[in-house]
Amino acid sequence: MTILCNCIDKDYMMSEELFSQRTTTCGALTKADDGSRVVLNGWVHRNRNHGSVHFINLRDRYGITQVVVDDDASKELQEVATSLRLEFCIAVTGVVRCRPDSMINPEMATGEIEVKAERIEILSSCPPLPFQIDDGTKTKEDLRLKYRYLDLRSQGMQQRLKLRHDFILSIRNYLSARDFWEIETPTMIKSTPEGARDFLVPSRIYPGKFYALPQSPQLFKQILMVGGMDKYFQIARCYRDEDARGDRQLEFTQLDLEMSFVDREDILGLIEPMFIELTETVGHKQILHKPFPRLTYDEALERFGSDKPDIRFGMELIDLGPTLAGCEFRVFSEALAAGGRVKAIVAPGCADYSRRQLDELVEFARTGGAKGLAWIAVRDDGLRSQITKNLTETEIADVLSRTGATTGDLLLIVADQAEVVAEALGQLRLEMARRLELLDGNVLGFCWILDFPLLEWSEEEQRYTAKHHPFTAPLDEDIPLLTADPARARAKAYDVVANGYEVGGGSIRIHRRELQTAMFRALGISDQEAQAQFGHLLEAFEYGAPPHGGIAPGIDRLVMLLAGEANIREVMAFPKTQRAVDLMTNAPSEISARQLDELQIRIVDQD
Ligand code: ASP
Repeated sequence: MTILCNCIDKDYMMSEELFSQRTTTCGALTKADDGSRVVLNGWVHRNRNHGSVHFINLRDRYGITQVVVDDDASKELQEVATSLRLEFCIAVTGVVRCRPDSMINPEMATGEIEVKAERIEILSSCPPLPFQIDDGTKTKEDLRLKYRYLDLRSQGMQQRLKLRHDFILSIRNYLSARDFWEIETPTMIKSTPEGARDFLVPSRIYPGKFYALPQSPQLFKQILMVGGMDKYFQIARCYRDEDARGDRQLEFTQLDLEMSFVDREDILGLIEPMFIELTETVGHKQILHKPFPRLTYDEALERFGSDKPDIRFGMELIDLGPTLAGCEFRVFSEALAAGGRVKAIVAPGCADYSRRQLDELVEFARTGGAKGLAWIAVRDDGLRSQITKNLTETEIADVLSRTGATTGDLLLIVADQAEVVAEALGQLRLEMARRLELLDGNVLGFCWILDFPLLEWSEEEQRYTAKHHPFTAPLDEDIPLLTADPARARAKAYDVVANGYEVGGGSIRIHRRELQTAMFRALGISDQEAQAQFGHLLEAFEYGAPPHGGIAPGIDRLVMLLAGEANIREVMAFPKTQRAVDLMTNAPSEISARQLDELQIRIVDQD
């Protein structure tokens, strides 16, 4: 009986599903295969018809092979060839033959051969396309995302996803070779705020209770260290319910890792060679400086106006405070008297900027938060500026010598509170680099940023919040500052930055309960609250917790930089739009009344 059933199933399958299965791929054949009979499966990439000869470019993930239906082909084969449209999925049986010399295409891996078709099966058809595959940037992104399965067929997407695969595989090999274990942690966890807003998952079994999706596996990886795992990593999906900004996604992938019995140098010493290998051997890009330059947080802000500086070009921020403290120009002297800063950047070769261009820069600085922007153009025929009339000869000479500005340069000056000056000039520095085309996409300028502040004051919440997260250890010498002067305490935290993007951040952690409790107190978290939210961590710390630390490089961003893309969505198979929508599946979507009932959730009418 069983045997009979199997036979019936098999016959049924055969009649429905039989197709000529490929013997090779569309990227493999060379003239060494001349004369062999092959079967290819793939998509019609192009179909040209020269009289009764058809040239069909057949494509799969491996490449493109030219299939020819000769004029001596049977009528039936001619008809099938004529009926083929772009992106039909087909099977071709045929014989490989060398192309005549004049027809060899050196651009194609299979350019020396073609396959003379004997039989073509249409495996599935395809309606007219909403956009041309491989048109990449010409097609509106929304359309590409709606029909992502078509977009994924493009060479660009396939190359980028291959790069991502190679990248992740390299990480796995690198870390496995160094005794790391890949360990999964749950994606439905206790809501433990880590800085951003949690995505919540209602529990059906415990109505009114919720799981959260992890913003990162932070607490689990620390607890793995308490559990003696010593070296852990994970290609971890993280979820943060943040407003759409730039290249952020609600869900993204980190290389999450943690090690026991380490200090900062151990982590930096592990990650830096890995980044070098990934960049050079997987991404085939150059690295600007090896070893990676190290800057303290204060130095990065001072020199570049940013804690994620793009160091591929100079144009550093120059302090004009010492020169201008007593100057007549009130905007400068008042800013300095109020404890603010006056700083400048020198844009080379921009002295002949027109009034309109200068106005644009002023507007740009204003959007960046500055009240205004002063400029001095150093031209052949002297200085052009609206402010020099308010400065003495000595002051002007000193400004020029401090900045090193020479003929042809444009000095851009901002005076304000320190943070405003850093932000506005930092942004302007990047804008000028874009205008001057100083950003070479083939080069990655990595650097480390060290000694971050432990805390930052939140005006909104009227309390200190953790600059990284609450589990970051203060520098040993700054522990007393936690109670005495929290704002000045520095952290054992580090970021790795490339081309102006933060591509990873981590820290040595607190591993003693008393210090963790002191940290929560500095953050204005009461002991009861700390117990309710992080009790499990505090308790774990009582059971022989080892000193530990880790880091979490962002995989999407790094792959994006290696792929030479400016948009993180280009290296994700199924990204959401900037407005947090999946255009292919239409998520988020409403759910049924029954689902809501089961969860005992009622939607409150918005109107
Ligand atoms: N969990 C941190 C983050 O996601 C990284 C770390 O400290 O290891 O930013």
